[in-house]
Amino acid sequence: MAIEYLCKACRGHLTVNNFLVLAATKINSSKRGLIFLNPELGNYTKTTHPSFSIEKGAEYLYTCPICHSQLNSVKYPHLVRVIMEDEKGKEFDIYFSGIAGEKCTYQLTDVGVVKKGPDAGKYDRYFDVPDEDKKYL
Ligand SMILES: [Zn+2]
Repeated sequence: MAIEYLCKACRGHLTVNNFLVLAATKINSSKRGLIFLNPELGNYTKTTHPSFSIEKGAEYLYTCPICHSQLNSVKYPHLVRVIMEDEKGKEFDIYFSGIAGEKCTYQLTDVGVVKKGPDAGKYDRYFDVPDEDKKYL
């Protein structure tokens, strides 16, 4: 069983032919299209149709291509959430930046947050556990 990505709303499979496929719309713009992301955490290569170029620094709304639910997090501004299912069927929340060019990924696990990418420090504060709570971990 390979790593799968699921929509947080409909649990539809978002991985097709080894790409994580999402629909993206540039905020305050009519520019939208499909985006093919590398499913490997920390790999930020992406592919789009030539008519839909991703503008670095612009924020995008990501939606599920199956149910059209918005995947941008309400809890964590500028981050987008999908569910990852590993080879053993274990599920993790994955967050990545909805701002093009920002390279950061957060994988929430039972034992803490696995952070990837050169910009991971940018949203660190969302996932930092206050020192007084660490004794409960
Ligand atoms: Zn969906």
